[in-house]
Amino acid sequence: MQFGQLLEARAGGLYSPAADAWIDSRRPVERALITHAHGDHLGYSHKQAWCSASCAPLAAKRLGAKVQLHGIPYGEAFRMGEAWISFHPAGHILGSAQIRIEVDGQVAVVSGDYKRGRDGVSQPFEVVPCDVFVSETTFGLPCYVWPDPRKEGERLRAWWRSNQEQGACSVLLAYALGKAQRVLPLLEGVEGPILMHASADPFVQLYRDQGVQLPPTERATAERIKQGVAGAMVIAPPSVQNTPWLRKLRPCRLAMASGWMQVRGVRRRMGYDDGFILSDHVDWPELLQTVKDSGCSELWCTHGFAGPVARYFREQGLKAQVLAADETRLEME
Ligand SMILES: [Zn+2]
Ligand SMILES: [Zn+2]
Repeated sequence: MQFGQLLEARAGGLYSPAADAWIDSRRPVERALITHAHGDHLGYSHKQAWCSASCAPLAAKRLGAKVQLHGIPYGEAFRMGEAWISFHPAGHILGSAQIRIEVDGQVAVVSGDYKRGRDGVSQPFEVVPCDVFVSETTFGLPCYVWPDPRKEGERLRAWWRSNQEQGACSVLLAYALGKAQRVLPLLEGVEGPILMHASADPFVQLYRDQGVQLPPTERATAERIKQGVAGAMVIAPPSVQNTPWLRKLRPCRLAMASGWMQVRGVRRRMGYDDGFILSDHVDWPELLQTVKDSGCSELWCTHGFAGPVARYFREQGLKAQVLAADETRLEME
């Protein structure tokens, strides 16, 4: 799959021949362009990498000093080989970007992960007109339509209060970077400590460093847990489920914040007491709207339901294809 010198889908991932750079490559490469700091979009041994200026501190935290990292302000175009490259807000997590590649007046945009709804934490998504659009299709089926996150926030606060009344600790499972910070403003208005698992806590500070307003939090250290956590809200990654660490928080109620909570039966099957439908990805209507807004003549689909989405758009008369199988994976969010 190729779009001129702009973009090529190779076995190893997305590559721009004009810029001689790989996009969100997980293999080590000479020059990488990074949409955002989630692990499935980062390579840990690149020689040099470029990302948005807001993404850079988050990516640096994950990559260490090994990778030479260049943070570029949103909207600022720079030359790379034969191409002009710029980063534009994707609304997914703090610093997440769509990568715009321009060569001779033709434009490719790689969305990375993105959402259209505002979460009060990430820079809001920006429409970037293009010829070829590479879109994630994590939730690319008509059954995925997100409820108003403010309503989910109300449910979340009510859940916390009711657990407090029963003297229980509330444990909300949320991915350490992005979701764990995004849920914090939704907790405002309830009296009680908010404790962050050690994997999510450093990112809270990195968000605050960029001026994001978040309610006060504490780190959920062993000593802090020993002081008692009845009535507290603990934010922890899903990997803590069925661990001794989680047992120390008993009595507790367990809930998950994810788009997958919209799927019937998932919550029960996974053993959560409750679920909150809070996604950092586009739902079906947002996906349709975004493809339309982009004005693209060609659509490349990746992640999740790439096949059905590509088929849908082909029926609408668009040239739509699925990225190589190794690029089509289920998003953990
Ligand atoms: Zn992501
Ligand atoms: Zn992803």
